[in-house]
Amino acid sequence: MITLVCPSCGGQVECADEGRESVRCPYCGSEIFFGARHTDAEFNDIRNANYQMEQDNLLDEKNRRSVKTWSVVRAVLIFLLAVQNYLGWLFIAIALKEENREAVKNGDFGFFILATLLIVGAFFLGLISPVILTLTRPNYNVVTKEEDKNAKVKAFFITLLINVLVWIASVTLAIISWKVFNIR
Ligand SMILES: [Zn+2]
Repeated sequence: MITLVCPSCGGQVECADEGRESVRCPYCGSEIFFGARHTDAEFNDIRNANYQMEQDNLLDEKNRRSVKTWSVVRAVLIFLLAVQNYLGWLFIAIALKEENREAVKNGDFGFFILATLLIVGAFFLGLISPVILTLTRPNYNVVTKEEDKNAKVKAFFITLLINVLVWIASVTLAIISWKVFNIR
């Protein structure tokens, strides 16, 4: 009895007649020539290698998915930072509007308090989110498909840089809005 591994589908094909030159794979129908014959030990090696490859692929898939989820969370946090900061600086201008100054004079600091909460909140979000994202970043590089010990450090500095740029951009946009909406 000879054990063969089908080169097309990897199926294990047993052949009783050793005098034949080839045998048809019962799983996929392709013809296997005995040049592809393996001993049982070799067959086990191949099966182990195939198993290892499958495990590696599963691990890659799992890692890729967790990096993707992480990226989505980061995008949401950055978006929140942008909106919160923009609204905060916009409310500062609204509080300073002609018709609202009277309220401030009367001790109604509603808009100022709201603006301060938003701005301070955005500032802390900008500082805390890189820390959270660093701690949760999987040690995996999607491009090289390998473990990446520097992934967390890179995630920290890149996220911090993005946050600084988003902060500047949202303040700039708020200032432009002041003029566009003629708030000040
Ligand atoms: Zn086959």
